[in-house]
Amino acid sequence: MKICTIIGARPQFIKAAVVSRIIQETDGVEEILIHTGQHFDANMSDVFFEELNIRKPDHQLKIGGGTHGQNTGRMIEAIENVLIAEKPDWVLVYGDTDSTLAGALAAVKLHIPIAHVESGLRSYNRRMPEEINRVLTDHAANLLFAPTNTAVGNLKNEGIDSDKVHQVGDVMYDATLYYRESAKRPSSIEEIDDKFILCTIHRAENTDDLTRLTRILDGLNVIAEEHIIILPLHPRTAGVIKRMPSLKLKDNIKIINPVGFLEMHWLLQHCSVVMTDSGGVQKEAFFHRKPCVTLRDETEWVELVDAGVNILAAPGSADIVLALKSMMGLEIDKKLNLYGDGQTGKRLLDIIMVEK
Ligand code: UDP
Repeated sequence: MKICTIIGARPQFIKAAVVSRIIQETDGVEEILIHTGQHFDANMSDVFFEELNIRKPDHQLKIGGGTHGQNTGRMIEAIENVLIAEKPDWVLVYGDTDSTLAGALAAVKLHIPIAHVESGLRSYNRRMPEEINRVLTDHAANLLFAPTNTAVGNLKNEGIDSDKVHQVGDVMYDATLYYRESAKRPSSIEEIDDKFILCTIHRAENTDDLTRLTRILDGLNVIAEEHIIILPLHPRTAGVIKRMPSLKLKDNIKIINPVGFLEMHWLLQHCSVVMTDSGGVQKEAFFHRKPCVTLRDETEWVELVDAGVNILAAPGSADIVLALKSMMGLEIDKKLNLYGDGQTGKRLLDIIMVEK
């Protein structure tokens, strides 16, 4: 069997690393890897291939830097060419980026079956590019790998045939279990004690809205009067901040370049609280039993909020300083299990192979 995996963005490298390793260990299945080029910086792409031992992509499309429409359109055309040449039995896509949607659209029109990992996630906010990408991909897919009960319910509510839907757990939990022993301290931070707050900000709804971004940064400045904040800064956010000349950030806010996965997990292991608008980082905070403040109006990972380990603090309507205080020091039950058993990658590959 030939599986063509399509990836392009940071969280997809991490998810695909789990499944690609299992594919390599499994007889009777060959993987063709397409990297669309959506993320291309060394610290947003290469470092993950090196650290997570992902093999060199068979096809590098080098498509990035444009608008959503430009990128998606160019990706569809380039992916279609590869699929016609490679003739895979399955196309495997992850998550909710433009690369996910482009892969799904190219495959569905060639009648190549699609498996979607991290299916059924919904924010019910159609202004998010990710929401459009995931809804359309789910409706084109033949196998939908949902991480949670909620995701399964969301797909059911949209009338998707339940035979196609498999609740398999979350591959990011597999990744955390597999790599956590290899976590390493980032070289970019000097000696620091374990009371720091780890923060990431990159969602378009925060970075493209200067009022929201200013409110987040104002909140961080207040928090930085008492705490050290480590902020590995996504290139999109860094670009916007550069254009805010009047912005003054307190010395306690330590801005560093985006870190690799192993350094990120060291930061997650050693921080006291996580503040983020990332989907993946919300879950990883929980995997490391760290409370999380989510800097968004809503989250797809509602079970974290229901379990009381994550609180939504929408910049502007909620006070992120109060939200942080309410989560500081929270002890999280070590037995709480929301995302499977760490065997998701194997489980989903077994299902694809049986479907053949
Ligand atoms: N991540 C990383 N280095 C960083 C920031 C994040 O390795 O500097 C990892 C993080 O641990 C998680 C993934 O990137 O596994 C999340 O990606 P991102 O926040 O870009 O996307 P999202 O999960 O929101 O789609």
